[in-house]
Amino acid sequence: MNALKNSYAALAILLFCSSATAFQWPENKKSAVSLTSDDGWNSQLLQADILDARGIKGTFYLTVVGMGMARVAAHAKKWAKVHRRGHEVGNHSFSHWDDRVLATKTKHDIADDVGNMEAWLLQHVYGNVPVDHTFAYPQGNGTVGSQEIDERKQAGACEYERLLSPMVSGARTLGSGENRPEMIARRRFSISGIAIDGDDETAFNRAKKAIDNGITKGTWTVAVFHSLGDEGDGYSISRAAYTRIADYLVLRRADLYIAPVVTVKNHIVANTPRADSACALQ
Ligand SMILES: [Zn+2]
Repeated sequence: MNALKNSYAALAILLFCSSATAFQWPENKKSAVSLTSDDGWNSQLLQADILDARGIKGTFYLTVVGMGMARVAAHAKKWAKVHRRGHEVGNHSFSHWDDRVLATKTKHDIADDVGNMEAWLLQHVYGNVPVDHTFAYPQGNGTVGSQEIDERKQAGACEYERLLSPMVSGARTLGSGENRPEMIARRRFSISGIAIDGDDETAFNRAKKAIDNGITKGTWTVAVFHSLGDEGDGYSISRAAYTRIADYLVLRRADLYIAPVVTVKNHIVANTPRADSACALQ
C-alpha cells in the first residue's frame, strides 16, 4: 500500500514539475525566435528592409573599429533610422578585439571599450535617449582567457557579466542557438546564438532545423547572421537565402513569437517567478 502511495506521490510530483516548466510564450505561441546580425555590414541595412517588409523586428550588433568596421560610422544616420523603426541596435564592443588581443587586455580595458561603444550608440543611434539593449560578445566568447578570475586581466563568465551589466541588460554568445527560458531567466548574459552561413541550401536548412526544434521543445531560437552576397568575411549568405529564412518565419508565424533579443529576454525575465542571476548568488 505504501509503495502504491509512493508511486502516486512520485507521479503527482512529476506532473507538477512538467507543468511548472512549460514556459508561457505570448499569445500561446509555441516558441520564440530572434534574428541577430553582427558587425554592421552595409548589407544588413537591406536585411532590416527585408524584415520590415514582413513585419519582423531583428537585432543588429554594431561595432565601430577593428575588423574594418569603420563603415558603420559612415552609415550612422541609417542605423539611427533602423533603431527608430523598432529594431534593436545593440553593442558589439567598440574595437572588436579578437581572442588574441582580448587576452592581453585588463577587464577594465574591456569595460572601457564596451563603454565607448555605448557612448557612440547613445549619441549616433539612440538620439541621446538611453535605450534598453543587449550585447554580443566579439567572436562569441563570453569569457576572456581562462575561466580563472585574475584581478589583472582574466574575466570568467560571471565576472564578464558583472562588468557588462551596468551598461547592457543581456548578452549573446555563439553556440547551439537553443535557449531554455528557465535557464535564460538566470543567465541572461549567456544567450546562445547559432551561426547561419554556407550555401543557400545549407543556410536555409540550418535555420529551419533550429526553428523547428524550438517549436517542438518550446525554447527560444536565436540565429546569427553576418553579411549578404559578395560583401563580407566568409560568413555571408545570399540575399535569396536570407529572404527564404524570413519567409519561413512568416509561414510559421502562428507558432512563433518573433522579436528582438532584448524583447524576448525581458519577456522571459518578467514571466519567471525566480529570475535572479545565477552569478549574483555565487
Ligand atoms: Zn563580430
